[in-house]
Amino acid sequence: MTTRRAFFGSLPVLAAGSLMAQERRAARPKIKITDLRCAIIGRNPTVRIVTDQGISGYGQAEGTKGYLKPMVLFYKDYILGEDPTDVERVMLKIRRMGAFKPWGAAVSAIEIALWDIAGQAAGVPVYKLLGGKIRDRVRIYNGGFRPPMKGQRPEDYAETVQRMKEAKEGFTLIKMAVAFHNRAMMTAIPDMWYDEPRGGASHPNKGVLTERGLKYIISCVEAMKKVLGDEVGLALDAGPGFMMKDAVAFSRACEPMNLAWIEDMLTGDYTPYPNAELYRDLKMMTSVPIHTGEQIYLRQNCKDLIEKQAVDVLGPDPEDVGGIAELKWIAEYADLHGIAIAPHGIFDGLIGLAAHVHMAAAMPQNFIAFEYPYGQPEWWYDIVDGLPDPIVKKGFVDVWDNPGLGVTFKVAAAKARLREEDRGFFD
Ligand SMILES: [Mg+2]
Repeated sequence: MTTRRAFFGSLPVLAAGSLMAQERRAARPKIKITDLRCAIIGRNPTVRIVTDQGISGYGQAEGTKGYLKPMVLFYKDYILGEDPTDVERVMLKIRRMGAFKPWGAAVSAIEIALWDIAGQAAGVPVYKLLGGKIRDRVRIYNGGFRPPMKGQRPEDYAETVQRMKEAKEGFTLIKMAVAFHNRAMMTAIPDMWYDEPRGGASHPNKGVLTERGLKYIISCVEAMKKVLGDEVGLALDAGPGFMMKDAVAFSRACEPMNLAWIEDMLTGDYTPYPNAELYRDLKMMTSVPIHTGEQIYLRQNCKDLIEKQAVDVLGPDPEDVGGIAELKWIAEYADLHGIAIAPHGIFDGLIGLAAHVHMAAAMPQNFIAFEYPYGQPEWWYDIVDGLPDPIVKKGFVDVWDNPGLGVTFKVAAAKARLREEDRGFFD
């Protein structure tokens, strides 16, 4: 009897506790997405998610994708009315309707904008929501500062990396475009490979290298390495376009130079598949770290490369892979398999830079560096607040603590830069 009385006696206490919890929940009204907008600001498609609580989140896509606006707006009806702070629930609605570069960019920009809102709503920087930071400053690598070259001789390559070495950012790691990733290099001397040179965008050339072509590419790399020594790391973006035997010969010739990595020799930028079997063969035949992945959309499409340990370094771009949490997930899984991470980012813009910084702060210890994006045009630096000054110190960016991505628009200045058709973007 006593036991029973005590049992029933405890009920009102439980009910009161539960009522208090309900009241607390009721005091925090649910936040809802009321609009999804996209403007091409300068060169970067910029996404704004508007909510009913006065908080807006921003995301961005590569400056090479000026055509992206209708693709972003395609997702509007899928996310209206959703709670943007339940990032994953919103992503489940749209993630399956993206694809390899360039078609995952809209989904990725939306994901980044959702995290920006989630951080602001919680009053914490985005890195806290990604598990917290494990480093206070994040390493960048240079891909975007490209001083004009006088010519295509090895000494011209030496001179250009000398200028990068002296740059105010104090880069500790520099990536250079060579071979099939560099049309000027591949057409500098005749007959570098056996197929006809092809024109058009996004790496149309591929084929078997001639001896002359292979020797010339190697001589340019040697000239650059001589300048950088062991003070500044050298990575090469080399394809896609290599055939396997040339990729092996080129990598082996580079072995004495201790490169940071060679990127995308077999498949890569704008190749709508990664070829894990071929990459695995290449990786096993050279000691040079083999890198790929900037065009990949979603963790599922990194699965083969990671589980087969087909590469040494993965380099997805948060603005193409499906966002920053997507890339964090890939980095963690890569780490379990002994694979390093060096995210692509050259065209990601200043909102993209913020996304990279938060993501890199929370990356596991297999993180090397991310590719540093510049604001283009220059006036981008005048329309945002929140970036450190200078942004890069001795090759690193200090991680900032403002809520969300921590980079906001100076609305009046930014409005003045909007195109006619985007005039209502900030309203
Ligand atoms: Mg690349």
